[in-house]
Amino acid sequence: MQPSEADEAQSSIPDGTPAGTPGRILQIEKCSIHDGDGLRTVVFLKGCPFRCAWCAAPESQDSEFNFGYGRLMSSAELISEIAKDEIFYFHSGGGVTISGGEPLLQVGFCEAVLRECKSMGINTAIETCAFGSYGNLEKLLPHLDIVYADIKLMDNKEHIKWTGASNETVLSNIRCMSENFSGKLRIRLPLVPTVNMNENFLKSAAEFCKGLAKLDLVELLPYHRLGLESYRKLGRENSLANVIPPGREAMEKARTVFSQLAPDIKVI
Ligand code: SF4
Repeated sequence: MQPSEADEAQSSIPDGTPAGTPGRILQIEKCSIHDGDGLRTVVFLKGCPFRCAWCAAPESQDSEFNFGYGRLMSSAELISEIAKDEIFYFHSGGGVTISGGEPLLQVGFCEAVLRECKSMGINTAIETCAFGSYGNLEKLLPHLDIVYADIKLMDNKEHIKWTGASNETVLSNIRCMSENFSGKLRIRLPLVPTVNMNENFLKSAAEFCKGLAKLDLVELLPYHRLGLESYRKLGRENSLANVIPPGREAMEKARTVFSQLAPDIKVI
């Protein structure tokens, strides 16, 4: 996606899709331990304004149900699916996480689901690229316990080059959330060799995080190649197909560098 297309996509993100509008779901994963506290039901949505070169789920990017990926679900249908695992949430301190694609592209649907989950006492989280109007984020924040927001690159030209869109809205939304969100704000840094796995990025990301009013933790995520088969099925090239994922040692080194730069921030 070119920047102009991304900007257009952002401006076309509706301010409030009606709550009765069905959600465009890619898949639902049960008992996940990677996307929030405890055991979680993770709902992956269809549609994303970014086109990250390292995206592990390219089938989530398009809102349309091409190649048989995904389906429509009403909020009531999704809530009853989530409620089936209530016992696991209760015993593990888990809950539900709405993930990308991008929740901000389906804000009315997400608001309806999250509001109901909260009223049932279920812990709620979203994973967002934070590229959308802050007004849309504000509709979700009262119903959330945890927000995971990604910072992919700090240099705007590089961000446009690798994701297809500017990072200005992303950074300003994260700043606003750190001041106004009463739950846990967690920043994720996907580390991709040859793209952003370098000291410059860690340094500028650490500086940015130190300036945030409130932050629960920072999570460093290693690039992986699990999505390559999806690119093949979609008939798409992946420019990073030959990049070797960072090993445990390289990730530990990155955590050490970040911790030295921002000693007061918890890094995992
Ligand atoms: S923001 Fe996430 S879902 Fe969207 S293109 Fe990037 S990695 Fe893929």
